[in-house]
Amino acid sequence: MLRLAVTEPGTPEIFRSIQGEGRSAGEVRTFVRLSGCNLHCTWCDTPYTWNWHGTKWPHEKDRPGAPHKFDPDAETIEMSVEEVAEAVEALPAPGVVLTGGEPLIQEAALAALIARLKRDNPALLIEVETNGTIAPSAALGEAVDLFMVSPKLAHAGDRPALALRPAPLAAFAALDSTWFKFVVREPGDLDEIAALAERFGIPCERIMVMPEGTDGATLRTRESLLRGPAEAAGYAWSDRLHIHLYGDTRGT
Ligand code: SF4
Repeated sequence: MLRLAVTEPGTPEIFRSIQGEGRSAGEVRTFVRLSGCNLHCTWCDTPYTWNWHGTKWPHEKDRPGAPHKFDPDAETIEMSVEEVAEAVEALPAPGVVLTGGEPLIQEAALAALIARLKRDNPALLIEVETNGTIAPSAALGEAVDLFMVSPKLAHAGDRPALALRPAPLAAFAALDSTWFKFVVREPGDLDEIAALAERFGIPCERIMVMPEGTDGATLRTRESLLRGPAEAAGYAWSDRLHIHLYGDTRGT
């Protein structure tokens, strides 16, 4: 079984759209958003996958007396691998993006889903978006065409010992199918990326930098501040097209 996020209670967040960020930005993809995460980033744009009522995690959208919390019963749905595969195949696209939350928490079911999808369509491109804290199995490493790994910088507010794990990051760095996507807010973040790349052996030529933001104005402001220095450092740039096209909405 897989635990998925929902667009509304009872409706799994499986949708077809334009990939808005990373190496396949602009391409048509079918998305599957899995629920659950082992990190708790303060600016997370999908807190409805993990920031449950009764937990202590702070979030930037917390307000006095109204923390930005969610009901896991209303926000998740359990589906079999076959049910998810059939929902994906009903929305055909050249590739599928398996995202979250943190998809690798459910690695065994994730691998089964990929095998099921490839069985019917061997040419289907498989992309996995992950925070890089869980190393993929050898089988998953072979089955996935693109890992977009997003290690978290200090501004995400996670404990470094949880967010930056040497063995998983080294495992991803060793896979040619991996690109690293760092979320940035200010110029000092680029220095942090350079230090992490050196520390964990992350190849500079497979680093993308993407502004943090859930509205177009914030993304453009950070782009004007950071794209030039990122380019000078040799990093690729990623926008967030889906935010410009659809805003900060689920299922897009
Ligand atoms: S790793 Fe991703 S899904 Fe998890 S809390 Fe951070 S931004 Fe959200």
